[in-house]
Amino acid sequence: MALKPLDIFKLLPKTNCKECGYTTCLAFLMQIALGKEDIKKCPHIGEEAKKQLSAAAAPPIITISIGKGEEKINIGGETVLYRHEKTFYNPTGIGILIDDDMPEEEVENKLDSIVNLKYERVGIKMKANVVAIKDSGKGRFLEIVSNAYKTGKCLMLMSNDASIIEKALQTCKDVRPLICASKENYKTLGELAKNHSCPIVIKGRNIQELCEMSIDLKKSGVEEIVLYPETEKISELFRILIELRRSAIILRKTECGYPVISFLPDLKPVNYLKEALYGSVCIAKYSSIIILSELKGETLFPILLARLNLFTDPQRPMATTEGVYEIGKPGPNSLVLITSNFSLTYFIVSGEIENSRIPAYLLVQDTEGLSVLTAWAADKLNAETIATLIKKTGLEEKLKSKTLIIPGVLAQLMGELEEELPDWKILLGPREAAYIPAFLKNIEGNKIS
Ligand code: SF4
Repeated sequence: MALKPLDIFKLLPKTNCKECGYTTCLAFLMQIALGKEDIKKCPHIGEEAKKQLSAAAAPPIITISIGKGEEKINIGGETVLYRHEKTFYNPTGIGILIDDDMPEEEVENKLDSIVNLKYERVGIKMKANVVAIKDSGKGRFLEIVSNAYKTGKCLMLMSNDASIIEKALQTCKDVRPLICASKENYKTLGELAKNHSCPIVIKGRNIQELCEMSIDLKKSGVEEIVLYPETEKISELFRILIELRRSAIILRKTECGYPVISFLPDLKPVNYLKEALYGSVCIAKYSSIIILSELKGETLFPILLARLNLFTDPQRPMATTEGVYEIGKPGPNSLVLITSNFSLTYFIVSGEIENSRIPAYLLVQDTEGLSVLTAWAADKLNAETIATLIKKTGLEEKLKSKTLIIPGVLAQLMGELEEELPDWKILLGPREAAYIPAFLKNIEGNKIS
């Protein structure tokens, strides 16, 4: 049961000793209530109070780590229904299903796709994370597990035979694979999962079934549980996903407070495009992992983008580090362009400079992640800040001819910049980044003629 702020306050020593870094116990309490501080920072709280406060501060959905090294991911750990209330923390894992009745070539292609399909967007590397391997009794399950293990990805083991899962664990236990169980075998596989410190996935046709199994498992000491609503209808899956999240967050039902996996092949989508569409719905509606039948660039990329957009902190704009970026191999006569450090702006502008194939310096001003026009309106990008940045970076020492191109939307800065930077030629660039290549080619062409 969640504690109210007043209940938490009663548990604090109320001596205002400041050892936690806050001037009063009340100020510290406010930070705990916001989830920004750890109660362990107060050295004077007794063990019993600590226990109660830890339980109250724990996220209503448990966090589970799977995989290892660079491929390790966290699932669950969410605290809100809607992203704008705070943020979503742990991006949905994206996986592919491999069935041991598939032809060998198809298995290889699927493993290749999960390794090789990766993208970069606004400096963030995006890729799929999970391989789900299903035992259909063709005798190739263990061999596929072993090959999937070599990809380094997180694994999900799906077999009704506990002895086969146990053998598979000998190969891949160190990546903490998810062990998938049904109503028929969850007790046996729960023991196995507990003994090998692996999380268990429980399949249930409805919320009641899922809750009954999670309560049973918890009683037997299994803590790391993932819920798998098993349905063939997207509308039903959608309803269950929402109900589980609401039950965990609003009603604080601990039996629902687990990460959830959406297994899209169960929906029997007519094609991979439809499946991708279902996948993006499941990401938006709280799935901690989605498993797809196929990974193709044309569907994986939009899914990864949907995930990226949902799992960024809405209170913090995505920003690039301030400084001078060399594009191509610029020399002493190269042009200098300036932009803000809003990541999207930076990547669009740098991409267009690259497209022009004209080497240039790109100056990025720290505008706290604001776009060019907003930064100008907030007085974070003006003639003075630009001149200071140029001096601070030492860029002038690298240049013989000094030409600075400012974004077309900053025409009003032209006069002030000419005063601040008397040795520089200031040019007004295009208003749209798409016109940068033509603009740069035009300048370079004029230089030659
Ligand atoms: Fe209060 Fe504990 Fe902070 Fe001291 S350290 S001010 S007792 S919360």
